[in-house]
Amino acid sequence: MTKPTIAQASCADDYDPNSMPVDKARAFIHRFLEPLTASLRVPIRSALGRVLAEDVVSPVDVPAHRNSAMDGWAMHGADLAPDSPATLEEIGASFAGRPFAGRVGSGQCVRIMTGGVVPEGADTVVMQERAQASGKRVTFAAGQKTGQHVREAGEDLGRGAVALARGRIVRPAELGLLASLGVGEVAVYRPLRVAFFSTGDELKSVGTALGEGEIYDSNRYTIHGMLTRLGCDVLDMGVVRDDPALLEKAFREAAANADVVITSGGVSVGEADFVKGMLGKLGEVVFWKIAMKPGRPLAYGKIAGAHFFGLPGNPVSVMVTFYQFVREALLRLMGADPVPPFPAFPAKCTERLRKAPGRTEFQRGVLARDASGAWTVRPTGEQGSGILKSMSEANCFIILGDAVGNVEPGTMVDVQLLEGIV
Ligand code: AMP
Ligand code: MG
Repeated sequence: MTKPTIAQASCADDYDPNSMPVDKARAFIHRFLEPLTASLRVPIRSALGRVLAEDVVSPVDVPAHRNSAMDGWAMHGADLAPDSPATLEEIGASFAGRPFAGRVGSGQCVRIMTGGVVPEGADTVVMQERAQASGKRVTFAAGQKTGQHVREAGEDLGRGAVALARGRIVRPAELGLLASLGVGEVAVYRPLRVAFFSTGDELKSVGTALGEGEIYDSNRYTIHGMLTRLGCDVLDMGVVRDDPALLEKAFREAAANADVVITSGGVSVGEADFVKGMLGKLGEVVFWKIAMKPGRPLAYGKIAGAHFFGLPGNPVSVMVTFYQFVREALLRLMGADPVPPFPAFPAKCTERLRKAPGRTEFQRGVLARDASGAWTVRPTGEQGSGILKSMSEANCFIILGDAVGNVEPGTMVDVQLLEGIV
């Protein structure tokens, strides 16, 4: 069966584009995301933040040798009596990086440190706290078990096993893991190229003076930041005036030079009639009013082979719609599988929140721990969709689902963390 086109899918679905639920919009977009296929090999440090394009198969056993999990002595387990202490003769030492060359015979033991290779003939380690050394005679307490404190070669990861699967985003832990396997280069997907521009006659770029009624374009900066954090190659196309010819030229140029085109401002969500016509000519675009606040108008589609996201104009709406729709879509296009979840959990709301049922709200919140150690959240003052300061003060979104109405202090609400440690 061939996949439906965006236009066919939007006709077939039984929702109202003027009141599109958040989940439905996400699921709709999801159907059209074909990940990148082109990849390149890079030294592992350069893979940080990129997506693995191939499984990394371990060329070695991890650990490479049978080794000790404790500081102590290694011996043959059968030499230890279960119910009484046993005394063995120390014949040498096995330290990390300096293994014992000989064989451990009956009645013998070898001093061993954590990570030291367990010598031939030995199968058991007794930790030093359970032993008493007197010269070369070492007495071990009763109750030891054969095989204890020995890590087998390949126990963590066998040679030939998949160490990291295709689709994995490389973080510091993955860099370390790759290095620990002796892998110096990996295949990663090429970066996703994203072109963006702002639309609006009132917008001026930073560095120019403002005239009457003009404002500085901030969306290009938040979008630049959000895309760069995701590891995209960005192409900032500046401000485009609300002029049909200029807009068409900008859309064509953006689509020709990028995998994804992002715009912000009313024009891109089809408020002006000519925009719908023009985008319809360039490709297929659906225009939604999402049942959410902020971020109600959203356009999604494909123009000249590029994915297109038409975000609202209001600066906070831009950020909310980016995080709620665009982020996940871009990660999928980048080849990420699975897409790392956007962590969300319940926290106690300390203030009253006004909320109308029937739409999902993404209020900006400050998450903190109270004196008892419990996580609490309060909204950042004014929640207007033009107030970027609320986004800047926030460390989380407070997500209030469609069914939720006003929230009284002390109620548990879902929060979605904006901060991450890796
Ligand atoms: P629009 O959707 O174009 O009607 O814009 C909604 C509001 O967001 C208006 O107040 C615009 O001035 C404002 N706005 C639109 N684009 C930007 C931008 N790039 N930077 C800052 N504010 C913007
Ligand atoms: Mg506008």
